Amino acid sequence: MNLPSDLAHEFERLRERITRKTSSRWFLEKRREIESLAPYDPDRGRERLDHLLATAVERAPYYAALRAHEQPGLRDFPRIRKNDLREHFLDFVTRDATGRMAPGAFFLSQTSGSTGQPVTLLSTAETGGLLNNVIRERFSAFLGLPDSGTVLNMGLLFPGTPLFEPVMLPRPYVKCNLRGYDPDDPGIVADYEAVVGRFPADQITGSSHRVITLARYCLERGIALRPHGVVATYEHMPDSGRRLVEEAFDCPVTMLYATAETGYAAFECGQGRLHFQDDFVLPEIEAADGREVGEIVLTSLVSTPMPIIRYVTGDLAPRPVECGCGLPGTVTEGLVGRTRSSLVGEDGAVYSPYSLLAALAAAGLPDYQVVQNAPGTLDLVTAGPAEPAAACVRDLNTLLAAYFGAGQGFRLRHRPDQDFQFTASGKRNPVVQHLALPDIPERSAYL
Ligand SMILES: [Zn+2]
Repeated sequence: MNLPSDLAHEFERLRERITRKTSSRWFLEKRREIESLAPYDPDRGRERLDHLLATAVERAPYYAALRAHEQPGLRDFPRIRKNDLREHFLDFVTRDATGRMAPGAFFLSQTSGSTGQPVTLLSTAETGGLLNNVIRERFSAFLGLPDSGTVLNMGLLFPGTPLFEPVMLPRPYVKCNLRGYDPDDPGIVADYEAVVGRFPADQITGSSHRVITLARYCLERGIALRPHGVVATYEHMPDSGRRLVEEAFDCPVTMLYATAETGYAAFECGQGRLHFQDDFVLPEIEAADGREVGEIVLTSLVSTPMPIIRYVTGDLAPRPVECGCGLPGTVTEGLVGRTRSSLVGEDGAVYSPYSLLAALAAAGLPDYQVVQNAPGTLDLVTAGPAEPAAACVRDLNTLLAAYFGAGQGFRLRHRPDQDFQFTASGKRNPVVQHLALPDIPERSAYL
């Protein structure tokens, strides 16, 4: 290990803290619970489904109409979309006859993801938190990760996330949080120089494009990280990117499929197929007549505080197949249909859309879509009153011009008169990219 002294000190301090905590009663109880749930169990899955559906019908106002049914099955429930969750949040929350919610440690989470449109979800530590830990334990075992160690995390981070932090569950690890590499951001460059290759990483995890960027970073500098597992999430990984990552880290990539609304739902086996964890998150993949690909619809079986039943994810997958690898669950050949949505600057550089989408959401626009037909120019299609949207575009362009300067980056062009564009499958993406994207790292810091 070769960290700068202040970071080395911090790293050791966290490692000692983790070791201390592993003998606490809290940790031992949590570990026991996770281990008891880790074996795949279809019988318990069916019990969870029955309990969820009964609770939803009895206690969630949204499903009150189903009370007329004798014993409604999954197929009797309507499919729901993000919009339903957004518009009927309170009606999804389960309550008893006196209006009281079930006991537990509740937490609210806000998701925005790639749509830029926030959805609020209600979960409990006993349900949502536990589910994610159990699924993570399953793929940790599959990858053969050590019982405790270090993880290099390239996920989407909140502002102010520390560089090192301890994570106790499902396994005690020191987590090193890195932002997406951006050669133009001195803070990010300094962080990478201080930590990448300077301590052994047992696992590398993060969104696909950031893991690819890290692989390129390591290859260019001759840094040899040798993790036990590389787990990429959130978006489809192109084959060329996967080859690059496997070459850089001498380790296969495992894709993890999760949605903000259901948590972790599936991971990839050694044969490259996605195995859903049906006893926690039950998938339906139904291809319409004659089509090979269907929408992924998920039911989160432990979501009783706020049932997520037959949630249309917007992701597509081929019809389920058999896999001989030995892992259980509904199997599909991997995701299709999630395309990269980077933005191309006038200078040819490639930018992540997330800062822009976040800024548009923060400006309070009711509905919008970013369409790119030419480098450097983003058409912003909006719905609703044009003038407030135009004012938002002026403000954002002032910020973008100040950051990028002439001939660099991109500007918005307001198109209130244009219609939203849909994919062949009828999905409306927040970003529609008509340009071919150069295969270079995405920049993230610009707003
Ligand atoms: Zn398999």
